[in-house]
Amino acid sequence: MRTFPPYRAQVVAEIPITTREQRERALAEAGYNAFNLPADQVTIDLLTDSGTGAVSTRQEAAAAAADRSYAGSASFFRFREILAELTHYPHILPVHQGRAAERVLFSTVLAPGKISVSNTHFDTTRANVELTGAEARDLPCAEFADLDSLEPFKGNIDLPSLEALLTGPEAGRVGQVLITITNNGGGGQPVSMANLAAAAKLARAHGVPVFLDAARFAENAWLVVQREPGYAGKTPREVAEEAFQLVDGCVASLKKDGISPMGAFIGLTDPELAQRCEGNLIATEGFRTYGGLGAHDLDRVAQGLREVLDPNYLAARAGEAARLARLANDAGVDIVQPAGIHALYLNAGRLLPHLPASRFPGHSLACELYLEGGIRCVELGSLYLGTLDENRELVTPAPFELVRVALPRRVYSQGHYDYVAEVLADIAKNPERVPGYRIVDAPDFLRHFNLRMAPAA
Ligand SMILES: *Cc1c(COP(=O)(O)O)cnc(C)c1O
Repeated sequence: MRTFPPYRAQVVAEIPITTREQRERALAEAGYNAFNLPADQVTIDLLTDSGTGAVSTRQEAAAAAADRSYAGSASFFRFREILAELTHYPHILPVHQGRAAERVLFSTVLAPGKISVSNTHFDTTRANVELTGAEARDLPCAEFADLDSLEPFKGNIDLPSLEALLTGPEAGRVGQVLITITNNGGGGQPVSMANLAAAAKLARAHGVPVFLDAARFAENAWLVVQREPGYAGKTPREVAEEAFQLVDGCVASLKKDGISPMGAFIGLTDPELAQRCEGNLIATEGFRTYGGLGAHDLDRVAQGLREVLDPNYLAARAGEAARLARLANDAGVDIVQPAGIHALYLNAGRLLPHLPASRFPGHSLACELYLEGGIRCVELGSLYLGTLDENRELVTPAPFELVRVALPRRVYSQGHYDYVAEVLADIAKNPERVPGYRIVDAPDFLRHFNLRMAPAA
């Protein structure tokens, strides 16, 4: 199939261009933490695909016509209608972003001593589980452990482990099953419909509610259409509707597949649970017809959700990711296979074998991409997931040393990604020149956002 992006630029923004010296200074001032870099020092920003997508003229037109009434705003009814049609959930609660949805739902469903079990909890998701006093337990499928394998659904939850948990001595503690589609913490890999259906059936059989963390519901649906037997003839919209209906509800950031700068929602089938969440929402986020969002956000999201399931858009976006994956491989940089859609995960551990986990090869590669090319991305390895001792030395490394290169929606074109691949290729020519890093300061909670680092001697 021939694909091309089904949109053209109508308004553009200038990209900052910096010198190597400026970047060295900026990175040192940022404590070698990309989250501390001022954006005007970043040339190609691949830190996240969240809230960074380009909005369409239709979205802006809808936003301009938004209804800012406190209660019963027409914008809310448009937002609710499109989400109710997509999910078939009778209860739709707007919230300002995904983590607010997590906080409202989890503080209603979980409690100290409970377990939230997931294919992989995303970082804020884990944090919001832990803030309720519950434990976040990840059960990724065994296939994910082989980064190079071409298994199509490495985002799946491990069904035998889930069943063992639900029938074992801890069964009474399981408060929810949460399936993240696509699995952002697990290489951006998709979850199959068969796995989702089986996980939901297991949870139901044991009286445990099952929810989706549906931030990338459209991209997961696209990968199901491409890869899962029996789904080739379906539209991404049909697959997404089916996924929502397999479970009891969802939390979903709309900063990803809502293609909007801000927004999220909680969708629920259970009226009693919805009512308790609504009380929490009104007390902490906003009234039930805006939930911490501006009316313009509600309308931007509603239109974004119409655009995101367009097969031409999804095909072009998946093609863009696959092309960058090929270019990285050609440059001698392995990625987590097979390429997903929202991000590539570079195998920094393999590219930089001279750096032990305690010198954080993923972080080192991310820093080098910035120093060499002004490209910002983030480590997903021992810095993010490893355990540290009181002297901030690494005790238990993460299983992998990866760098997540996230692809904002509709923002960069082939020319930008060719540049990224060239910078990667230059680094890969002399990987032994890339220095390791040590931790200078690390808070205990959500540490990767606030770390300070320095090049290791
Ligand atoms: C982004 C994300 C969240 C949190 O959403 P925010 O809108 O950033 O608060 C939760 N889960 C997953 C899988 C995400 O990608």
